[in-house]
Amino acid sequence: MHSPWEYPDFDDHEIVHFVTDRASGLRAVICVHSTHLGPGAGGVRFWHYAESADALRDALRLSRGMSFKNAMAGLPLGGGKAVILADDARTKTPEMLEAYGRAVERLGGAYVTAEDVGVGVPDLVEVSKHTRFVSGLPVGEGAVGGDPGPHTSYGVYLGVRAAARRALGKDSLAGLHIAIQGAGSVAGGLARLAAKDGARISVADIDGARAQRVADEVAGSVVSPDSIMTLDADILSPNALGAILTEESIAALRVPVVAGGANNQLATPADGQRIHERGILYAPDYVINAGGIINVSTEYLKDGDQETVRGRIEQIPERLERIWSDSVATGRNPAEVADAMAKKLIGRG
Ligand code: NAD
Repeated sequence: MHSPWEYPDFDDHEIVHFVTDRASGLRAVICVHSTHLGPGAGGVRFWHYAESADALRDALRLSRGMSFKNAMAGLPLGGGKAVILADDARTKTPEMLEAYGRAVERLGGAYVTAEDVGVGVPDLVEVSKHTRFVSGLPVGEGAVGGDPGPHTSYGVYLGVRAAARRALGKDSLAGLHIAIQGAGSVAGGLARLAAKDGARISVADIDGARAQRVADEVAGSVVSPDSIMTLDADILSPNALGAILTEESIAALRVPVVAGGANNQLATPADGQRIHERGILYAPDYVINAGGIINVSTEYLKDGDQETVRGRIEQIPERLERIWSDSVATGRNPAEVADAMAKKLIGRG
């Protein structure tokens, strides 16, 4: 048994807040990794975990990822993340969301919550009745706010193009085969943007109907979730869940590029080195998928309009380029380079 401070992934978190609300059945963990650059901002995930320890581990890893992501996106925000532990029946009630909102409020603004997997805009509306520290809420036409998904998709699309330029010498995605893991919000948006450029899309999701819908929209093909990671393609874009790049899966990859929006794609830091040693160009996840938090941040801090958001997202390719160039110059893998840059920015370099 580890003491909390020696817990794997703890990494000097500033706050780890365990929440139990017996009346509503809420169990949640709110983690704030760093407030060095501003309030710890990041979404809340609603997920069924086999073990509660998995929930803590997920929250800690995601929260640290948010510190790095927000810093690398140039935002005046620290990093945090929350998970709500779903029961076997995945029951999510307004009372649970209320109790969650109250817990966020009690942290006094050290943590700002938003959407993540399993939590949508209507859920946040419920949460916002009980805390001020929430972003990603519905807004009127033309205003900044709402679902961060499309903004994440746009940033991932720009990052995929940058990777294609660097690794394949292609200025456009036309004719390239992109294997997309996941057919949710981020994946769907990416598929549509890439298909518009003339890319060929293969898509896989454990929800077959979802995969089919995206494939139909972009005249692409559905692939089984088991085979998407070993598809012979130009680019693999992981847009489902984390820890999919492992020793085994990396050995089986048949692509020159991995660039996608899923958080925490590398199962361990050693996998960043493994993918590099295979000569595959990797786009560090928290750099390429910052579009959503850029939108959330601009909404929360009220420091720009839709043009500002677009401009900030359009800086993602430049950041990736800087990382890849540094990687070439130093021989370190891109994930390691990005981590070092981010740590310096949050005062832990
Ligand atoms: P989503 O829930 O809309 O979509 C995720 C999809 O992945 C679902 O359709 C699900 O069925 C599928 N999936 C789950 N396990 C799978 C598997 N093993 N194989 C294939 N498909 C599988 O979520 P989303 O908002 O599109 O987010 C996708 C990823 O991007 C997540 O890792 C999320 O943390 C990350 N992300 C999202 C945003 C955002 O703005 N939405 C921002 C940054 C990062």
